[in-house]
Amino acid sequence: MAELGNGKKQASPEEVHPRKAFGWAAKDKSGVLSPFAFSRRNTGADDVTIKILYCGICHSDLHTAKNEWSNAIYPMVPGHEIVGVVTEVGQNVQNFKVGEKVGVGCIVNSCLSCQNCNRDYENYCPRIILTYNSLDVDGTMTYGGYSNMVVVNQHFVIRFPENLPLDKGAPLLCAGITVYSPLKEHGLDVPGKHLGVVGLGGLGHVAVKFGKAFGMKVTVISTSLKKEKEAIERLGADAFLVSSNAEQMQAAMGTMDGIINTVSADHSIAPLAFLLKTHGKMIMVGAPEKPLQLPIFSLILGGKTLAGSCIGGIKATQEMIDFAAKNNITADIELIPISYLNEAMERLTKADVRYRFVIDIGNSLTEA
Ligand code: NAP
Ligand code: ZN
Repeated sequence: MAELGNGKKQASPEEVHPRKAFGWAAKDKSGVLSPFAFSRRNTGADDVTIKILYCGICHSDLHTAKNEWSNAIYPMVPGHEIVGVVTEVGQNVQNFKVGEKVGVGCIVNSCLSCQNCNRDYENYCPRIILTYNSLDVDGTMTYGGYSNMVVVNQHFVIRFPENLPLDKGAPLLCAGITVYSPLKEHGLDVPGKHLGVVGLGGLGHVAVKFGKAFGMKVTVISTSLKKEKEAIERLGADAFLVSSNAEQMQAAMGTMDGIINTVSADHSIAPLAFLLKTHGKMIMVGAPEKPLQLPIFSLILGGKTLAGSCIGGIKATQEMIDFAAKNNITADIELIPISYLNEAMERLTKADVRYRFVIDIGNSLTEA
């Protein structure tokens, strides 16, 4: 028990729930992760307990662990691209069985009764509970997938089709849905339309794959010339622009129906808006630490729309996973042992990953 200032005692992360759990946590805003013992709740009537096998590393994990969004609560166990196998189900759970392969993304609870939840937008529920760094319904902290097991309400568990590889499929649970959902919502899933993908990282590279599966023409806009060959040859993009190359950017002006912007850091958005056709849309999903500048004429001229989007609802996530399985869409990953976690975070800061780190939890995480 930890002593609080007012003389009361608060249960430590290890004691707050009955089941022992372990993982890696960030302990302060350095973002450095290290082994961490904590606990998980027992399997409730509507719960699914999952042994975690793989977890993707999203740039949001890095932003949050380093408190770049000023909302960090430490110790924090990040990870919201979780896949694993069901080990126990509660008495009300009919749709999941012990031994099945499942996934969990960014959301582990919501009210399930507000206007947003009723329309399958749990991602916009005012009472959303995120997979980590959130207060759970019982007032305890949620801890994410850089850990050995998790207990999740059945509504938020995603079924993994047999043919979808668990390791390469894990990143779809955040990166995949974050690009799939707005492309669908904004009518950017139409064959023949021209999609720009800004930032070829975890989100960007799966956006290219979904765009191509929808039959679109896809152009990557990147800061890294060295990603050009593989963007075209391996990922299937039709064209590649280097954002610092004014000539290339000029030649592509007014050609795109829509842009999905996945950039994680400060950058100029006016030159990107000029790539859009009249009435084109740029959807912002990247979430840089500092506010971006918005030169308003880049939108006024051509009547363009700037939109934001946050992950996607649970129904859309299952639909995206099924679509990915059917169309052989998976992430290109670098599978790492958990001991490599801090180096991976360092490399992610520098956009030095092709294109998603996935932690091999099942084979490398051992008790602290
Ligand atoms: P990532 O793998 O690090 O990819 C981000 C890409 O942005 C990099 O690969 C790089 O691509 C580009 N980039 C980085 N620094 C840049 C700079 N200074 N100027 C221009 N481009 C730069 O990250 P991710 O996991 O895909 O996540 C991307 C962003 O989306 C993060 O901010 C993350 O928090 C956010 N996110 C949002 C949601 C949501 O629901 N809205 C969900 C998940 C993640 P190039 O090398 O090609 O330039
Ligand atoms: Zn994410």
